[in-house]
Amino acid sequence: EAANSSSGEDCCVKVAVHTRPLIGDEKLQGCKDCVTIVPGKPQVQIGTHSFTFDHVYGSSGSPSTAMYEECVAPLVDGLFQGYNATVLAYGQTGSGKTYTMGTSLRDGCHTGLIPKAMNALFSKIETLKHEIEFQLHVSFIEIHKEEVRDLLEPSSANKQEIANGHAGKVTMPGKPPIQIRETSNGVITLAGSTECSVKSLKEMADCLEQGSLNRATGSTNMNNSSSRSHAIFTITMEQMRRLHPGSSNDGNLNDCNMTEEYLCAKLHLVDLAGSERAKRTGSDGLRFKEGVHINKGLLALGNVISALGDEKKRKEGLHVPYRDSKLTRLLQDSLGGNSRTVMIACISPADINAEETLNTLKYANRAR
Ligand code: ADP
Ligand code: MG
Repeated sequence: EAANSSSGEDCCVKVAVHTRPLIGDEKLQGCKDCVTIVPGKPQVQIGTHSFTFDHVYGSSGSPSTAMYEECVAPLVDGLFQGYNATVLAYGQTGSGKTYTMGTSLRDGCHTGLIPKAMNALFSKIETLKHEIEFQLHVSFIEIHKEEVRDLLEPSSANKQEIANGHAGKVTMPGKPPIQIRETSNGVITLAGSTECSVKSLKEMADCLEQGSLNRATGSTNMNNSSSRSHAIFTITMEQMRRLHPGSSNDGNLNDCNMTEEYLCAKLHLVDLAGSERAKRTGSDGLRFKEGVHINKGLLALGNVISALGDEKKRKEGLHVPYRDSKLTRLLQDSLGGNSRTVMIACISPADINAEETLNTLKYANRAR
């Protein structure tokens, strides 16, 4: 278990905003940019509203190195000290979540936060591997309508749906549904999901790519479910210290855990479902049900994060409602406690999206 996190500025949830540039469609429609970033401050304005976050990133190009360094690098470093962590991309469909995370094959696959995290992870392992033996696993799953799907090995049921070109009646030959379990010491596990053992950056990148492909392929044939599902790429890292006396003078090693022989920690990188409200008008029954489910995950997440952020309530032993959704249940041991969480609220600058952008900023503001 990781040491306690009393050191430093450890508020457990950090919130950043990422605004993308106007994109082709919006430009064609003649949209105006209605989001202003206050120069030199982590502050964003829309209309008469003004919000301050831990960081605000503008639309200049791809997810910047600064965003990685400030938001994600500390979490990757924390993994080496045994701290679990979660990065969440929140926002309406089209706001740039997938681009920011790098779970898209089309773009972001080199500049997104996940590829950057993978690079940094392997660079650091390279410098430590003489003293520490590392074992890495990744899983990549999707939560859709409160059901967990494996993106690394879509069940034959999924493949059937894809082949049929629609979400048909799902029978699950062979593969039992993936279940979220909690061990007696509070570790959350996914029973029945693929855990790929990876030895290199290339192998990890292949998993990301394969899962992203499976997600994209599944969604075109299922009412674009990717905008209504949460995609969770999880890196689990085990460390076994090699017992070489005298080799422990490396400044990179954490001081507090020098006596530990074994550490295990995981990093969840989450591309959340679109935060837009399900439109009642024009929704068939199925869509509406999906909307309700997604609200359940995002609603529960908002409640969990705001409960965690409320120091006073936390001290009073406030109940943190992890069990209210699959998403929060899965992330339970990586949100709050000793773990570190970053929420990146993605927004479109276009005036036609102003209402959803404001909703996103309010949600993100509540998380602080
Ligand atoms: P989401 O996953 O939130 O639905 P996407 O990541 O798919 O949104 O982004 C929607 C569109 O905007 C895509 O065409 C993507 O290429 C583009 N886009 C997103 N973020 C940026 C950015 N920072 N710079 C340029 N284009 C972007
Ligand atoms: Mg997306």
